[in-house]
Amino acid sequence: MLSRASPLARSAFRSAQPVARRGYAGAPNAAASNTPLFLGLAGLAGLGGYVYLQRNPSIGAKAKSELHDAKDQAKSKFEDVKGDAKAKLDQVKGEAKAATATASTAAAGALVKDAWVPFKLESVENYNHNTKIYHFTFGEGNENKSRGGEIPNALLVRSPEGDGEVKDAKGKPVIRPYTPISGNDQKGGLSLMIKEYKDGLLTPYISAMKPGSELLFKGPIPKFKYEPNQIDRGLCVSGGSGVTPMYQLITHSLSLPEDKTKWTLVFSNVTEADILLRKEFDALAKKNPDRFEVKYVLDKPPKGWKGETGFVTPEMISKVFPKGDDRVKAFVCGPPPQVKSLAGPKDGPRQGELLGAFKDLGYMADEVFKF
Ligand SMILES: Cc1cc2nc3c(=O)[nH]c(=O)nc-3n(C[C@H](O)[C@H](O)[C@H](O)COP(=O)(O)OP(=O)(O)OC[C@H]3O[C@@H](n4cnc5c(N)ncnc54)[C@H](O)[C@@H]3O)c2cc1C
Repeated sequence: MLSRASPLARSAFRSAQPVARRGYAGAPNAAASNTPLFLGLAGLAGLGGYVYLQRNPSIGAKAKSELHDAKDQAKSKFEDVKGDAKAKLDQVKGEAKAATATASTAAAGALVKDAWVPFKLESVENYNHNTKIYHFTFGEGNENKSRGGEIPNALLVRSPEGDGEVKDAKGKPVIRPYTPISGNDQKGGLSLMIKEYKDGLLTPYISAMKPGSELLFKGPIPKFKYEPNQIDRGLCVSGGSGVTPMYQLITHSLSLPEDKTKWTLVFSNVTEADILLRKEFDALAKKNPDRFEVKYVLDKPPKGWKGETGFVTPEMISKVFPKGDDRVKAFVCGPPPQVKSLAGPKDGPRQGELLGAFKDLGYMADEVFKF
């Protein structure tokens, strides 16, 4: 190694160093102005060395061999250093790549926007006569992932391919959107509240599922970007299972300490037994009396019902949610006839023209959102 080389060889290696350093691309070249001086000195030293060696051939031979040894050692040291540096660089590169992959996977969430992923049904809770809550897990290795996306969001569901796959009359797989009722940051799984339509296509299949079986999921499907305090008051009007996006939106807003937005939920159903998430909404109203109120509306009210009855009309809306000069926005989600009568029909995934009760009440198109 270098420490074992002769003084001559060491000086030869040292004198080579500035040249090597100057070769470093992009480095400031502070020694450049001394170059002629160095060259002159090197020339003199070379000439002196030549004369000395001519007069002392044995010393010259020894020095020559030591110089060769030193060159070999310097080369081998350089190869070692180069090898170490490359190994270190590869390690750092590998670590950086792994960290990026972990960060992007965690940020991506368990749902995939452009691909169907299977989630396993873990358990089912009977909620009422036609609705159940389904708890799905994201599976092994995904325990620390949440589903991803921003509130409010929905996802798409279909049955697995193969025997028993649910298809429509044209033989195409039946795909339906649902709105998770579990928190957006819940890790390892998600929960759906699904009302069964006995004559529907997909819900009888889901209702018959047993824990351990799988559904295919895709998403999340963003609806809009909810910003705290962008409006002063929000009105949510929904019917039946159309309440799930409202539950997502309202619980999210109430959970944000900086958000002061106030919410009114007008929730219509046929009978009292059809009211979904009633316990949860009542608890939210009790906990946030200044920010959230809920009005239940029934088609077939029981005796002594103190809430609203019949269809949701413009008069009912102005009574429970008078429009003032503050920033308001109405959100609508329910059976298509209800959406149509309140805000005009949706145009496929597009909002469609604002018509119906909200138009009559003087709302502008950007003051109404149809889920
Ligand atoms: C964004 C979004 C989120 C949703 N979130 C939820 C949720 O969280 N929970 C939930 O339970 N539901 C939700 N839904 C509704 C859900 O997507 C399905 O529409 C519902 O589950 C019914 O599916 P199905 O295939 O069983 O019934 P479908 O086959 O769609 O039939 C539903 C009902 O409509 C009737 N019907 C079907 N076609 C016609 C027709 N041409 N004319 C008249 N009647 C017809 C059927 O007879 C049946 O009674 C959501 C919908 C949207 C758009």
